[in-house]
Amino acid sequence: MTVDVIMMETIEVKEEEEFNKKKDFVMNHPILYSNGINLDYGDYFNVYETPRGAVSLKWMYENKCSPQNHILDSYMGSELEYDVFPRSTSHPDLFSLVERPADKCTVTSENAMQELCCTAQRYAWGLVGSNSTVARMKAAASKYDGSGFKIDESSPYAELWVGTHPNGMSVLPGKNNMSLKDYVRSNPQLHCGLSTETDVSFLFKVLSINKTLSIQAHPDKKRAERLHAANPSAYKDPNHKPEMAIALSDDFEAMCGFRSLQDIASSAQKHPEFVTMIGVENAKRLIKTASSSYTPEQSRDMLQTMYHHYMSLPDEIISVHLQSLLGRLNSLGYIVDCTDELVLRLSHQHPGDSGIFSPYFFNHMKLREGDAFFIGANEPHAYISGEILECMACSDNVVRAGLTPKLKDIPTLVEMLTYKTGQPDVTTGISLDKFTKLYHPPVPDFAIEVMDIPPSQVYNMGKVNAPSVLLCLNGSGVVEQGIVKSINIGFGVAAFVSANTEAKLYSGESGVRIARAMTNVHL
Ligand SMILES: [Zn+2]
Repeated sequence: MTVDVIMMETIEVKEEEEFNKKKDFVMNHPILYSNGINLDYGDYFNVYETPRGAVSLKWMYENKCSPQNHILDSYMGSELEYDVFPRSTSHPDLFSLVERPADKCTVTSENAMQELCCTAQRYAWGLVGSNSTVARMKAAASKYDGSGFKIDESSPYAELWVGTHPNGMSVLPGKNNMSLKDYVRSNPQLHCGLSTETDVSFLFKVLSINKTLSIQAHPDKKRAERLHAANPSAYKDPNHKPEMAIALSDDFEAMCGFRSLQDIASSAQKHPEFVTMIGVENAKRLIKTASSSYTPEQSRDMLQTMYHHYMSLPDEIISVHLQSLLGRLNSLGYIVDCTDELVLRLSHQHPGDSGIFSPYFFNHMKLREGDAFFIGANEPHAYISGEILECMACSDNVVRAGLTPKLKDIPTLVEMLTYKTGQPDVTTGISLDKFTKLYHPPVPDFAIEVMDIPPSQVYNMGKVNAPSVLLCLNGSGVVEQGIVKSINIGFGVAAFVSANTEAKLYSGESGVRIARAMTNVHL
């Protein structure tokens, strides 16, 4: 690559104060430092302006005035990646650039990347033993993190948690297994950036799903605060919990949001047991309304009334009608549609559970690898199968509706749901560059980048003014922050990256795929 440069000025290092400033600058800058620059008195910098407005440096030894071209070349060669010297027109000299706040946080031993050892959750719905990506990631990472983890082939492995949630804290093997939370709190401004944050705002997970999870919804922030204040044992924190799911496999299925009135009406016309669930009078009104025009408010009221009826029915009535429905669906010669097929699947996974009727209420989504969707506050959802990345605001507030033996807070649930109809939008992310896709939800708490780097490439992971975590999904490579820090990265390896620090990613022979979750700096 050729970049035209215009020489602006030459600065000779004479005074001790200047020398120290320049030395700090070089020591704290991974590119210059890793290129072997040793400063001494009488050395020269040339400052150049490039066409992109960045300023680059040329280095000369005392009395020689012959540029050390390898330094210029390597710097210029990566100038497009390392646009770290935004030109200050009011202070175009090197010293003012060094003093810019954005440049203060270069990489030192205080804020270099940290390997993480993450928690695997063995919930009963997880894929079992080596069939679970969660288990295989944990086992592969144990070669690096020293955890000694071995897969128990009879145990389910449902979730891998990367973050600071107290129920599954990530720890730093390089710091005597200090918790990630304590590490971040040891210097919040350094690790979290210029904001007032003192913790990682998100929880990043891998889910390996064998059996449908409970149908649930998460309260918005105001409701979460109220619920937590009134009932802290059921609602553990005052935070909201928006979520995003990115499919890692082609068999990811989920339920999310209410079906249209027409679709629900057609299930009511087909199944008398479902009519009992939503109420006979409600069903009549539904069928009439669905065949004419109606307002969103009418749709909302109708869905809330029907869902309230269903959620309030005694278990005995649900059980009788469930048996009747399943008897017919299982009878010889009965032709089931794909909604009935899901009902049957749920009946095998959660025998006798009232939530088996859910597919008649909710959209059934099927996603392929790389597809993603966002679940906002108060939207009912349940994951059915497949393996996913999931990112969410750091919270544990769940209001359950079915497919679970756990508490169902029915009045709260019925009141809080949005009753919007239709599936959430499915996205494949937006391209940040030719190797990186960004998934960014409409909330400030989190965003996810997925970097897919071909074999033997060098890729610059830019700095963001927020904390982030890396998780290797495939392949191998090295992540390097100059000579300050380098991590051998392979399947399952996770690392914490402090705010405003960048890194170079060297992909191995088979390339490398890394997901990076961060506070949503892309809003
Ligand atoms: Zn959820």
